[in-house]
Order: sequence, then structure tokens, then C-alpha cells
Amino acid sequence: MATPMMQQYQSLKQQAPDAILFFRLGDFYEMFGADAELAAPILEIALTGRDAGEGQRMPMCGVPFHALDNYLPKLVMAGHKVAICEQVEDPAASKGIVRREIIRIVSPGTLTDTLPDEDDHHYLAAIYYELEWGLAFADLSTGVFTIFQTSSDEILFAEIARLHPAELVATEELMKKNRRCAAYYCTRREKKSFKQTAALRERFAQQDRLLAELDCAAQAAAGLWSYIQEMTCSADLAHFLAISTYTDEECMLLDQWTRRNLELSESLRGKDRKGTLFEVLNLTKTAFGARLLRTWLEQPLLREAAIQQRLDRVEDLVNDAFARADLAKLLTGVYDLERLTAKVSYGSVNARELLSLAHTLRQLPPFRSVLEGSVSQRLQAYLPALCGLDELAQHLTEGIHPEAPVSTKEGGIIRPGFSQPIDALREIAAGGKNFLTRLETSERERTGIRSLKVGFNKVFGYYLEVTHANTQSVPPDYQRKQTLANAERYITAELKAYEQKILESESRLTEMEYEEFLKLRDQTRSAIPRILRAAKALAEIDVFVSWAEAAARYHYVRPQLRTDGIISITEGRHPVVEQVLETGVFVPNDTQMSPGQHLAVITGPNMAGKSTYMRQVALLVLMAHIGSFIPAEKASIALVDRIFTRVGASDDLAGGQSTFMVEMREVAHILSNATARSLLIFDEVGRGTSTYDGLSIAWAVVEYLAGQRALQSKTLFATHYHELTQLAEQLPGVFNLHVGVKERGEDVVFLHKILPGGADRSY
Ligand code: ATP
Repeated sequence: MATPMMQQYQSLKQQAPDAILFFRLGDFYEMFGADAELAAPILEIALTGRDAGEGQRMPMCGVPFHALDNYLPKLVMAGHKVAICEQVEDPAASKGIVRREIIRIVSPGTLTDTLPDEDDHHYLAAIYYELEWGLAFADLSTGVFTIFQTSSDEILFAEIARLHPAELVATEELMKKNRRCAAYYCTRREKKSFKQTAALRERFAQQDRLLAELDCAAQAAAGLWSYIQEMTCSADLAHFLAISTYTDEECMLLDQWTRRNLELSESLRGKDRKGTLFEVLNLTKTAFGARLLRTWLEQPLLREAAIQQRLDRVEDLVNDAFARADLAKLLTGVYDLERLTAKVSYGSVNARELLSLAHTLRQLPPFRSVLEGSVSQRLQAYLPALCGLDELAQHLTEGIHPEAPVSTKEGGIIRPGFSQPIDALREIAAGGKNFLTRLETSERERTGIRSLKVGFNKVFGYYLEVTHANTQSVPPDYQRKQTLANAERYITAELKAYEQKILESESRLTEMEYEEFLKLRDQTRSAIPRILRAAKALAEIDVFVSWAEAAARYHYVRPQLRTDGIISITEGRHPVVEQVLETGVFVPNDTQMSPGQHLAVITGPNMAGKSTYMRQVALLVLMAHIGSFIPAEKASIALVDRIFTRVGASDDLAGGQSTFMVEMREVAHILSNATARSLLIFDEVGRGTSTYDGLSIAWAVVEYLAGQRALQSKTLFATHYHELTQLAEQLPGVFNLHVGVKERGEDVVFLHKILPGGADRSY
């Protein structure tokens, strides 16, 4: 027969069979059996054994409860689910075995604490298919919950790649059919969990119409929501305020090649942020600001009014250097409001984190005065979102001890003066000595015995000691307890009551402090919608301040937006390359494109700067679309519907495809999705194959794009096939550009200047 505790363990284990069970045992989370064998090497902890009854020994390992945040992410990011089981009653008060429950299950996508990257979202995504694709994604650490629907596989997987979810939820069938799912950590769920849309629509009643319209997305969302609820063991999740959506009419969807080639938030080489547009534009001070910036960067806007609105705000902050500096300074004192709020929602927040929250909320009045003092009406639009939290800030500040510990159950949480009963208890616990001194004085006065002393021993506890010479003055309420050679020891009812109080007060105190802490936490919880509204406003302000700062620091200008198809840039610069080079070294270049001159064939020697120039044009157009100022002297930019790039010979070795195949697939993808309003960048198309084939392909692509019946997309086409320069005379809309070089004897000096006409020879 297994021990009762092992029986309890087994029944809990059955509730989460595919997870490693963290079984709370006193101050440790213990793992047993196969779980222990699996986890010990990953966590680098010792594997021991434990008696499991019937003379059996079981492998076992454990981690201290307070180090959960160190160990949990290691297992989860290694691709395991972990079920956290807690003791849900006081072991001292329980008869027999302590009751235990699984309080949450953590997987890569449902991890909420110690996330790998604070500047990036941590998404859990779900997909569903029924005539169309439904995509739903959520960030459990911030409350973002978004749905999207599309009929295109291509767009769906490009969106998933953009979100790079830590976990993807779908039915078994869907995963089998779509091999691209395998790039992600996948969780299979029954089809019926995607059908539970009624519960979802009830919870998010305000989005009912949206959910009814996007029925496939709604089913993905239902599958996602039921999974989140199951994993967090929570139905409430107050920080999920609403479900949002976006369409390809309001947002430019970038395919993964373009996102990578333009190095928006990940560099081609290092796969990190160094050398990316994100790095240049991200001067935000808060983590939630950085996350918003990243989202905006990877999801440019398409509607002019929305872009102008952002540009207006950036401009106001460019013009008002004082407000910009003041706001930046205030933002440095702001903690990650979104993730703190999520912790409040889960009930995992501690007192220190509530203090950080309070500290942040205390910055709101100064924020408001800066905005009120600014001449910009547009920035004042943020004022209402920054109101209504002053009282909570004050309450938390008054309530929480400035040096509160991380643990919520060991006292020291509530600030003196906040709660009278806690103060009284604390006085008894900590000020025991003071009380005894006072008692000694008052008893001396009452009895007239000047040598009366208060003392303590282990057998009798506290006592009053009176020498034999004075025992005749002892009042009747003194009870004799012990006789010594020269003195008698007494107790009184008051002293015993006090003794009881001292002994009990410690534990009572931590209990009361915990209760008071819970009250503060619940008050904060009821303010979650207001806090998140303020967080959203601060995030936007942070991004605008950041872009205005970048504009001022690096000399950017506001792009004029136009709809006549003309792109006209004077002295444009590549935002990232110019930063890498020493000041003044980067050579600015102009760009002129119009419906009559829409395809530029660019020739010139290797390393002359063709790629840099083409990427520069794409980046400047993209920056205009996100609402940022751009590195140029002057720019007016026709809004585009998509930006596509096909750059270099990027071998997809992992995918098992040859360079040629990859190239053709990408080119085909571009040509079948582009319109006359798209901007296309082709860098050395056809390089991955033999000269003749390569030239034919390049030629065919240009012919497909330019000419009377052709696509007529705005195109920059860099090539080492000099023959293509002839097309400028044959096809309307085509013109030649080349990169200037100077020959000095044997040497070639690159001027990095883009000039009209074809290069006169191939180097
Ligand atoms: P390849 O055909 O080999 O790809 P390329 O002509 O596309 O060459 P780039 O890669 O664009 O050349 O540029 C090569 C280097 O030249 C860059 O790394 C950069 O240091 C420098 N460079 C490019 N453009 C400029 C510029 N406008 N001003 C100053 N330096 C530049």
C-alpha cells in the first residue's frame, strides 16, 4: 500500500498527466519518479530517492519554493509543461494529510513570470480552419488578446512568424496537414474546445459583433481562451479587457522575408537587435513602450489619416523639446505597468511589486502637468487616460511598508500608521520590552515596592519578583508561583494575558498583515481597467517621445504623404548604416519615382552601395507608414499597399530547398501578390543560377513589371547583368541608375552616389 501522501500525489498527477508535477512539500517543490529523472539534469540538481511505501524507493528531486522563478522557466523553455501544486490549507491546522491542489499549469506560451525578453511580447497563439483561417493570439503577461482572419495560408504563416509565438495551439488534424506548424512548440487540443464560442462571447460581450463576424477567428479564440483558463486554473483573468482585431486594409502585412531582409527587429547575421531599425528608433524608457514600438514597426499603417495622426504627435514633441525631455525623464521612473497588472490579476503580485505600481501611479499627476503645460492639443488627448488613479496610488503608498519583503506571508508588509490593530499587535510583538518596563514602573507605583522587578524564565514565563522583605506589600491579585532564597515570584492575570499576547501576536501579526495586503491587492485589482488604460497611454507617449527624440538627435524630417504615386526623397540616408559609419561619412542619395518612372534598374560594382540604397528607400517608405520622421532633407512619399523584398541568395538549407528554388518561390510570391501600389526591391535576382538562366529570369521579371499591360509596381532592381540596362529604352516606366565610382590608376574608389544612367562597364 502506498503512503497516503503518495496516493495524494498520484491522484494529482492524473489531473495533469503530460506535465511535470511540482508537489509542494513544506519549503520545497518536490518531483518524483519519471518527472524527477527528467527534470534533475535540466535543472542541474541532485537526484535522490524517497520511500514510497511497500519498501519501494522512488527517484526524487526538489527545488526551494522561493526559487520557483529561477527553476520554472528553465523547464518550460526546455519545452516541458509544469503543474504547480500547492498546500491549500495550513499544515498546523489540518488533521491528517494537508490538502493540496494544482493551482496552475505552465507551458512555454503560458509562462508569465521571468520571461526571456521584456522588450518583446510573449505570445500564445491558436489557429483554426473552416473555409478560412482563424488566428487568435494572447500575451498572458500583458492581457493583449487579438484575432485575425484570412483565406491565405501565406498570410497566416507570415503573421504567425511575425508573432513568433512561444506556443501554438491547434487540433491534431490541422497540425498534421500544415507542416509549417512544426516550427513552433505545439499543443494539440480537441476540436470541441474550439467550438466553445458561447462562453467566449459571454466573457467578451462587448466584442460580440466582432466575434460573430469573424467566425473562424472566434473559434480560434475560443480554443485559446479555454486553454488559457485551464492552464491558469482561473476563469476571471481580469487583465484581459477586450479582444481586438486588425485587417490588411488598415495594416501592411509584411512577409517574413521582407521583415528579415529589412532587418526591422532582428539582424540578418546576429539574429539580435544590433543593426536593426528597432535599435535605432527604440529610445523608449519603458518595457511596454518598447513592446508597442516593436508592434508598430512590424505592422505599418495603411490609412493616411491614422499615419498623419501619429506624425502630428511626433511633430509636436519634436517642436517642444522641453515637454519631450520632461516626459522622457518621467518615463524613466515608470515600471512595467502591464506586467505588474497581470500579476495583480493572477494574484501572484507581492508587496514590493505593488509598491512599484504605486510608485508608477504617483508619476501620473506630474505627467498630467507636463501635458497640460504643453502647447499641443493633441498630446492633451491623453489626459483623461491618466486620471482616476491618484487615490489608489496614495492608498498603496500609505499601506505598504517601503521596505516590504518579497514574501507575502512573513509580515513586514504593512506600513506603520496604516492599520490600528496591526500597529497594536506589532507593538506587542516588537515592543514587548517597552511594555514590561512600563509594567514594572506602574507596579512599583501601585505597590510602593521600589525593588519590584519583571523577569522571564522558561518554566513560568513572565513573573514579578519581590524580595522577602517586601512581600507584605504585595496586592491580593498577585499569585505566588515560586519561592527563592531571597525573593518570591508572582504572576498576575494581566501579565499572563500579555504573555499570551506576545506569543500569539507574532503569528497573528503576519496573518493580519497578509489579510490587509490581500485587501490592497483586491482594491488594485478592481482598478485594472483604469491602470491598463493609463499604461496604453503611457506606452504611446513613450513611443512618440522616442521617435521625436530620434528625429531631433539624428536630423530626420516629417515625410509629406501623397496619393499620386510619386516618391520624392532629397538626400535620403539609410537609418541604420549611417549610425554604424562615422559622422559625415554616409553619402546621402536622392530618390525620384513616379508612375511614369516606376522601375529603376541599378547597376554598379559589388560593394558600391546598391543594396544599401535599395533598402534605404524601402525603410524610408516603411518609416513613413509607421508614422515616424525619416532620415532625409526633404521627402514626400506616396503611400504603398505592400513592401516586398527579394534580397541576396539566402540559402534555406534547413528547409532542404536549393537557392534557386527559394529564389523562384520568393519571386513568384512577390509577383502574384504585388499591385501597382506596391514597392518591390529585387537584389541580384537570378544570381543563384547559371548566367544565361539568371539573365533570362531577371529579364522576364522586369518585363512582367514594366510595360503597358504589366503590373507597374514601384521597383528597384539591382543587377550585375549589364544587359538589363537596354530595357530602359524598350519598356515604358523603366529607367537606369548606377553607383558612381572613381578610378585612380588600378584602384576603384566607391563614391556611394546613385547617379542616372547605367554603369559604363561591369567591374
Ligand atoms: P553587393 O553587390 O556586393 O551586395 P552593394 O553594391 O550592394 O554590394 P552594399 O552592400 O550596399 O553594396 O554596400 C557596401 C558597403 O558600402 C556598406 O557596408 C557600407 O559600409 C558602404 N556604403 C554603402 N552605401 C553607402 C553610402 N551611401 N555612404 C557611405 N557608405 C556606404
